[in-house]
Amino acid sequence: MPPQRATVIGLGLSGALLALSLNRYSSTIPTIYELRASPSTLGGAINLTPPVSRILDSLGLLAAAKEIAFETKEISIFSLRSGAKLGALPFIDEETGHTSLRIERALLLELLIRALDEAGVQVVFGKRLEGVREVEDGRVAAVFADGGEVESELLFGCDGIHSLVRGAYVEPDRKATYSGLSSAYGFSATPEGLIGKEGFEGTAVASGMRGSVIVSYCGPRKEKVFVGAVMEVKAPDADRDGWRGKGAMGTEAKKELVERFGGGDPVFKAVVEGVEEWSFFPVWVLPNGGTYWRGRTVLVGDAAHAGPPGGEGAALAMEDAVVLGRLVGKAEEEGAAVEAVFRRYDELRRERVTENYTRASARWEGAKNRSWLFQKTMELFMWAFLMVWWNKREWGFEYDAANVELGGKL
Ligand SMILES: Cc1cc2nc3c(=O)[nH]c(=O)nc-3n(C[C@H](O)[C@H](O)[C@H](O)COP(=O)(O)OP(=O)(O)OC[C@H]3O[C@@H](n4cnc5c(N)ncnc54)[C@H](O)[C@@H]3O)c2cc1C
Repeated sequence: MPPQRATVIGLGLSGALLALSLNRYSSTIPTIYELRASPSTLGGAINLTPPVSRILDSLGLLAAAKEIAFETKEISIFSLRSGAKLGALPFIDEETGHTSLRIERALLLELLIRALDEAGVQVVFGKRLEGVREVEDGRVAAVFADGGEVESELLFGCDGIHSLVRGAYVEPDRKATYSGLSSAYGFSATPEGLIGKEGFEGTAVASGMRGSVIVSYCGPRKEKVFVGAVMEVKAPDADRDGWRGKGAMGTEAKKELVERFGGGDPVFKAVVEGVEEWSFFPVWVLPNGGTYWRGRTVLVGDAAHAGPPGGEGAALAMEDAVVLGRLVGKAEEEGAAVEAVFRRYDELRRERVTENYTRASARWEGAKNRSWLFQKTMELFMWAFLMVWWNKREWGFEYDAANVELGGKL
């Protein structure tokens, strides 16, 4: 396969990382097309696990990321009722020292856009993809809503859970469904009492009968706290990508969240009450499995495999991008065909994605309301639960997308 032109649809985490990886590992030239007129500011502060720190390190971006993120070494589990610490999950790869990072999604995107700019990658905003079709001579055409068409040798669908690339071309029958739940999130100024709270290391999940709330610093200076919870919300039909609770809806939602999570420990209560504006992110889920590629077109990140939020979706998206970028470089060296690249990508990524999906689905069930007795039992046996959960989780943190074996000749 000679160096090619690549069309990348979507400037989310997978699109940005894919273009950076193609630039780093291959001679293929990517151009990104994004439907929004400017970079998205949607989303709260996401948790990036150690494999992402390792990726950012490999791209020379880790130091800059740490300047805008909070380094999470453990997630402490608290009882919302009593405020007592029940246990902790290490969120660090002991061997390399790579930690997790809690970072505002918009700031992370800004950082990646600067890196794209420095790498000379062209990003075209305000371009909504409407269709995909194969053309003669080994090319594929991206058809845009403004009537424009772009032909290239490779097309990457990095266009998120509602992917048009998947829906219109790769696998029209696999559709996302709304889970009935939304993630509610907001930011609060750090209240008095949180910094010195016994056992609080900067990121906590406070768990009660009516669900759990995550409370985490999201920058290195600890002056601001990210607060996130899951609740049942009817998603407005018109806005699948998140909205802000304004006016009556905002007051209503705030009241419910304070009632739900503000009844026990005064410090967590102050955090929840301190959120001025709640935003909602409807949780859509894509059935696991399916097809990742067709012809010269391949799906990356949420477009291929969006599972229930389990704190690792961004990591999977970014890992996909790095592995794919490296495979394109390998194919250029070996003169291999496009199909061989996409087949190997599927083989290399499928197991990790499926494992993650299963784990996230189980955790998602735990987000539902619990009885007083169940909650009390959970509090008593939290240490045992953490040991089992941690053992199952551990393998994931060692993954190194920039160095993982790509296998023999393509
Ligand atoms: C509530 C919630 C909380 C989460 N928290 C975490 C967390 O803490 N940690 C974590 O690792 N993951 C988290 N995730 C998952 C994570 O956000 C996603 O897995 C990740 O953002 C996927 O990135 P992506 O680039 O594949 O898709 P996206 O980020 O959705 O990007 C897709 C891009 O494509 C563009 N696009 C879409 N359609 C078109 C079109 N037709 N033409 C052109 N452009 C188009 C969109 O505008 C967008 O910019 C969370 C998810 C949810 C729902």
